[in-house]
Amino acid sequence: MQGIDWEAAVSELVDHLRTLLRFDTTNPPGNETPAAHWVAGVLRREGIAAEVLESAPGRGTAIGRLHATNPTGEAPLLLMGHLDVVPAEAAEWQHPPFAGAVVGGEVWGRGALDMKSTVATWLMLVLLARRTGLPLKRDIILMANADEETGGDMGARWIAEHHFDKVRGAGALSEGGGTVMAVNDRSYFTYQVAEKTSCKFRMTARGAGGHASVPSADNAVVHLGRAVAALGTTPLPVHITEPFRAFVEGVAAHQPEPSRSAWLGLLSDPAHADEQLAAATDDARLQRRLRAMMANTATPTMLQAGSKINVIPATAECMVDCRILPGQTKESVEAEVRAVLHAAGILEHIELEWLLRPIKKDSPVHGPLVDAMRIALERYAPGVPLIPVMSTGGTDNEFFRNLGMPIYGFVPLPPGEAFGTIHAADERISIKALAFSLQVAWEVVRTFCA
Ligand SMILES: [Zn+2]
Repeated sequence: MQGIDWEAAVSELVDHLRTLLRFDTTNPPGNETPAAHWVAGVLRREGIAAEVLESAPGRGTAIGRLHATNPTGEAPLLLMGHLDVVPAEAAEWQHPPFAGAVVGGEVWGRGALDMKSTVATWLMLVLLARRTGLPLKRDIILMANADEETGGDMGARWIAEHHFDKVRGAGALSEGGGTVMAVNDRSYFTYQVAEKTSCKFRMTARGAGGHASVPSADNAVVHLGRAVAALGTTPLPVHITEPFRAFVEGVAAHQPEPSRSAWLGLLSDPAHADEQLAAATDDARLQRRLRAMMANTATPTMLQAGSKINVIPATAECMVDCRILPGQTKESVEAEVRAVLHAAGILEHIELEWLLRPIKKDSPVHGPLVDAMRIALERYAPGVPLIPVMSTGGTDNEFFRNLGMPIYGFVPLPPGEAFGTIHAADERISIKALAFSLQVAWEVVRTFCA
C-alpha cells in the first residue's frame, strides 16, 4: 500500500469542492443532476463503479461503490452527503455564492459547510482508498444525494424506498455531528445518534362570527391567542431518553466539580430540570438546547385569521412546529398539549389536526464505527472526548436509521473552526478544516474498512 501525499490530497479536495460549489443546486428547485453526473464521472475515471439515479427530471443522486479488495463478507460503509443547498442572496455576500472563490485560506460559497465540503471529502477518501490500494475488507459506498434541504422526498427518502439495496451497509457517516461543542471551557467532539421527530399540528379555534362593532367574548381570534400564549410559555414535561443519558454522562465524565454533579443532576432529578440546567451551565443558548433535548416541544409559528377588519372570523388557525423525543408518540405528545390547553381553560374552543411523519429510530451509542471515530480523534485531536448527541432538528439520517442501518452524524471539523455561516451569507470553510476533516475521516475509514 502506498503512502499519502497529504498536501496534494488536500489541494485536490479543494479543487473538487470549488467545482461542486459552481453547480447551482439551490433547492428549490434543486437541479442536482449535473453535479451528480460530475461526481459519478470523477469516480468512473478512476475505475470506480458509479451511476446517477433520478427521482424526477433534474433530481439526481450519484451512487458509487469501491469494491473490497480483500472481502470478508462484512457489510459496506456508506458515506452520505447531500448536493442541494439552501438559497443564497448574492447581494449580501462578500464573494459570489456560486463561484467557489478561495480567499484568505478559506473556500467560499453556498454549501461550503452544508455540505458540499463533506461530499468533496468523501469523494477524496474513496479516490485515496483506490489509489493507495487500501486493503479493503468491505465495500465503501458514496452517495451524493438530492433534496435534503426541503425534506428528502426526492433524495434520501426516495433512495431508501426504491434503491436501498444500492446503499445498504453496516453503518454510515453523514451530517449532524463531528463539530466541537464547548461546555464550561471544556471541548467535546460530537457524533449524532438521534434526532427528534417532527410532529407538526394545526390548532383551529372556533367562535361566533359577526360584525366587529358588536364584540363578543366568543371570538376565535381571542381563543386562539390564549391557546398560543399558553403553548408558547408552558414547557412540556421532561423525559430522559437513552441518547440524552449517554450525552449527559459523556459530558459529566470530563467536567470538574461542582459542574459534574450538576450535569448528573439532570438525570437524577429531572423534576427540577430548570434549576439543574442553571447549575450545569451559564450559557443561555446551551441551556435552551439542553431543554429541547429533554422534552417534546410545541412552538407556534404561523397564524392565520380574518379577511376584513370589521368582521369577526368564525375560525382562526395556528401552525405549531412540534418536535417529539425518541420513544414518544403522537398520542403521548397530544396528551401533553391537551393538558396545557386544558390548564389554560381554552381546550373546549380548540381543535387539533396532526401532520405526522414516521417516528424516527436512533443509532446505537456504541459500536465498531464509533470506536473507529474515537481512534481517529485520539490521533488528530488528543484529549478531546467524543460524546453522542441528539439533534433537535432533522436531516436525511432518519430514512436509513428507520430501515435499521446505524447512521452517525460525523463530519469532523477542528476545534476553533467557525460554522456559524451555515444557511447564512458568506458561508465558507477553511482549508485547514478540510485537511483535518480528510485526515480524521481517512483514519475512520482505514480502521473500519481495512
Ligand atoms: Zn445539510
